[in-house]
Amino acid sequence: MSESEAVKRLSERRGALRADCGSCAGLCCVAPAFTKSADFAVDKPAGTPCLNLLDDFRCGIHEGLRGSGFTGCTVFDCFGAGQQVTQSTFGGRNWRDEPGLAGAMFAGLGVMRQLHELRWYLCEAVELVPDGPLRDELDAARLHSERLSDTDAAGLPDVDIAGVRQQVGDLLGRASDVVRRGFAKAPDHRGADLIEVRWRGADLRGASFRGAYLLGADLRNADLRWADLLGADLRAARLSGAKLDGALFVTQPQLTAAHGDVATSIPAGLTRPDHWSTAAKPAGSAGAAKPGQADGRACGRSSRRRPRRR
Ligand code: SF4
Repeated sequence: MSESEAVKRLSERRGALRADCGSCAGLCCVAPAFTKSADFAVDKPAGTPCLNLLDDFRCGIHEGLRGSGFTGCTVFDCFGAGQQVTQSTFGGRNWRDEPGLAGAMFAGLGVMRQLHELRWYLCEAVELVPDGPLRDELDAARLHSERLSDTDAAGLPDVDIAGVRQQVGDLLGRASDVVRRGFAKAPDHRGADLIEVRWRGADLRGASFRGAYLLGADLRNADLRWADLLGADLRAARLSGAKLDGALFVTQPQLTAAHGDVATSIPAGLTRPDHWSTAAKPAGSAGAAKPGQADGRACGRSSRRRPRRR
């Protein structure tokens, strides 16, 4: 199987894991609580619609989220859980027309999002490892989690999502070890506090940053190929000129939360964020997005640790 075929298959399998806000009942704009902060301009209790949510479930400030104090919304991604819960689990019904559904829909979003995020990683892991028992296990887990996404509304609360996370997490760890075994001396920074670390131009190939805190890290021109970035917090990390093609388990929200430029190489299937610099700047001048710059993505909103939401 050629690399391009693997990339194509990965893209196809991830099709259902890409947010389609137009098919969702605005669940992520209602279900969670927001705390007023640099990422969210207002306080909002859980279960209450955001003041910017329109009657048709579109965001009234979608094109200007960053400039309106709602940057947090641009770095969240439901991995397609919103449309799955709205259209499949609840058959196109919604909490606004039927308020009695609200609690179940919002709780269902929480379960479904975790499932879909795990599916996102599993799709990638299957393509990373060679044929053999581990690949078979990964594919079985991928298919199992796909079936779980079709659980009906009555059964969704009973999905053992913690158990699924544990099982999939173990599998992904084994897949990562296989892929990175050529980098035996690469550092293991799992869960490490690396906030604002200065690793400009560093050779970080094959390192593990699983769950690490890389907020504001200077990774300009660093080589992160084959590095495991699962769940790494890359908010405001400086990635100008960095090599991330081939980095493991990178998500769109991670890229969107960071700052890169046209010279940053990114993993296949991901999109260069619109707010990244369109020019390759000298390494010393990489900076943040300009205030007021529109994000332009479908409200992709972030990953595992969305800060400052209650
Ligand atoms: S995307 Fe953000 S600002 Fe827009 S309606 Fe949803 S929660 Fe509100």
